[in-house]
Amino acid sequence: MSEYFRNIGSSVSTILTGMGITLRHFFNAVRRKGDAGIDDSGYFGQVDGLVTLQYPKEAFPTPEQGRYRLYNNIDDCIGCGQCVRACPIECITMETIKVTKDDLELCGKTSGGQQKRFWVPVFDIDVAKCMTCGICVSVCPTECLVHTPVSDFSEFNREHMIYHFGNLSELEAEAKRRKLAEEKKAAQAKKAAAGGSPKPAPKRAPEQGPRNQ
Ligand code: SF4
Ligand code: SF4
Repeated sequence: MSEYFRNIGSSVSTILTGMGITLRHFFNAVRRKGDAGIDDSGYFGQVDGLVTLQYPKEAFPTPEQGRYRLYNNIDDCIGCGQCVRACPIECITMETIKVTKDDLELCGKTSGGQQKRFWVPVFDIDVAKCMTCGICVSVCPTECLVHTPVSDFSEFNREHMIYHFGNLSELEAEAKRRKLAEEKKAAQAKKAAAGGSPKPAPKRAPEQGPRNQ
């Protein structure tokens, strides 16, 4: 009989202890964790206090080396295509047009001084597919492809998850394609003209008379 009451007493004591812990956390949760907020380096070390942030008014800071949404500074992109080839899930789509000789100056140089030789009318990144592995960033020779600290970019429309960085409009791209085709045609015509004209006859060595014996 005494054991029966001892078990009841133990149960009540266990319930009260558990309830005490729960109530302590409950009342602690009505105040913020520390006064310094989420920028406080000891924020995550604090056991008590409100855990949930008032998102989106406040959000955890992203780490400096974090890999989040990609951005291409297209002014520095040379259209080499290394990022496209390196991407394991093919979420970068790129189209390039070779710059004609008279457009080289207009196309300009990268911030590192490298002459750009390709227009890049299409440079699309499907961020819905991108797993932010960072391989494309690591192979980019001009470091124009970078991760940004933007970690929240949800959209209602799937199409809005494709980011466009191209440096020509469709009309401009068409004009550049035509210009390049004309340049190629002119070069071929020049080559054909040079190949079709009769070659100058090789100079003949002056005939020598019989040697005096
Ligand atoms: S971060 Fe990875 S998955 Fe995303 S575009 Fe670059 S290579 Fe592709
Ligand atoms: S690797 Fe860099 S420079 Fe080359 S196409 Fe990609 S973004 Fe442009």
